[in-house]
Amino acid sequence: MSKFSDFNFFGYKALVRVDFNVPLDDKFNITDDTRMTATIPTIKRILAEGGSAILMSHLGRPKDGPTDKYSLKHLVNHLHELLNIIPSQNGGTKVFFADDCIGEQAILTASMLKPGEVLLLENLRFYKEEEKGDEAFAKKLSKLGEVYVNDAFGTAHRAHASTAVIAQFFDTDKRMFGLLMESEVLSAEKVLHEAEKPFTAIIGGAKVSDKILIIENLLDRATDIIIGGGMAYTFLKARGGKIGNSLCEDDRFAIALDILEKAKQKNVSIHLPETSIIADKFAADANTKDCPSDQIPDGWMGLDIGPKAIGVFSEVIRNSKTILWNGPMGVFEMEKFQNGTKSIALVVAEATAKGAFSLVGGGDSVAAVNQFNLADKVSYVSTGGGAMLEYFEGKVLPGIAAIK
Ligand code: AMP
Repeated sequence: MSKFSDFNFFGYKALVRVDFNVPLDDKFNITDDTRMTATIPTIKRILAEGGSAILMSHLGRPKDGPTDKYSLKHLVNHLHELLNIIPSQNGGTKVFFADDCIGEQAILTASMLKPGEVLLLENLRFYKEEEKGDEAFAKKLSKLGEVYVNDAFGTAHRAHASTAVIAQFFDTDKRMFGLLMESEVLSAEKVLHEAEKPFTAIIGGAKVSDKILIIENLLDRATDIIIGGGMAYTFLKARGGKIGNSLCEDDRFAIALDILEKAKQKNVSIHLPETSIIADKFAADANTKDCPSDQIPDGWMGLDIGPKAIGVFSEVIRNSKTILWNGPMGVFEMEKFQNGTKSIALVVAEATAKGAFSLVGGGDSVAAVNQFNLADKVSYVSTGGGAMLEYFEGKVLPGIAAIK
């Protein structure tokens, strides 16, 4: 593979896999353009060096071929705006659209593309071959560009035609990660393979079952694992605690106990919340109390970590040199139960300011860090929810492996 920043794109047509899978409202307005803005530096760099960019992406989950609802044509105007934030005298960067990602029109428009111009291809998933990882389809796509750039970390865990299979049709020096993908991979590798100790993983969210693999993999790497959120109560009940009506997966007691036992053997400290903010119903206007997490009365449920737990967790985080955070500490969507997540976010920011490397990855913890305006106070906020999770589960991501 080549390194993006070492490659000179002058005169090259770069075929770039981006993740433009953005949410749209009924009128096709983009309601959150984070995924588009995240990849703009990669595109601009190619254009600035005198290359042209052919962008390919999926949008949504179209079932039966081309559907207006999932057309990438709805993104063209916004892409044009993003690429032309500073207007230039000659009308700025031109963005063309091909209403099929393969076929004659795509080939013709791609071949006529001049340096500094952009072509957006229609939704890859209009072909079922994309998700099937079909080789012939990947080969057709590969003909559109001379170098392949993968900047779609969010789909790196899928072995699809455009994210993995396509790479084989480019010489090794003509395939590379884009700037976004490169920084995602470097941050993830830094945490998983080069973590400075003490290394604390903060794992939260609703279900133990979603996070078992990640916890098991971290048992060989972390010094401390903090477990918060709804999933903590399965561990607490498995240990014999009374958790009232808190979230619990009774069929996961054995695995929870096994994790606690393995942690002991491997000298990893697992921290469960000593206290919880409990509520008499799952609602924003519930009555609440601070209570030991293993003595929750029937009819009450733990919806956030309590002040004592925040104190213990904060101490561990403050002493860490590497921090990985996935999943909220409570139901942070409701104001009454957001103190735990917010306090932990602030301490992660504090530790980062003192020199720790912190990576926040996974949908809801990213949403929480954004909600509390702390995204720029941590070292790295990952855009790839599912991909980042699988990476930390120790899996090989096809999108990464194909380039390397
Ligand atoms: P996940 O997607 O697994 O990271 O879970 C995130 C969701 O877990 C968020 O919507 C939180 O509201 C929810 N959550 C966190 N803590 C609790 C809890 N103690 N009880 C119920 N749900 C929770």
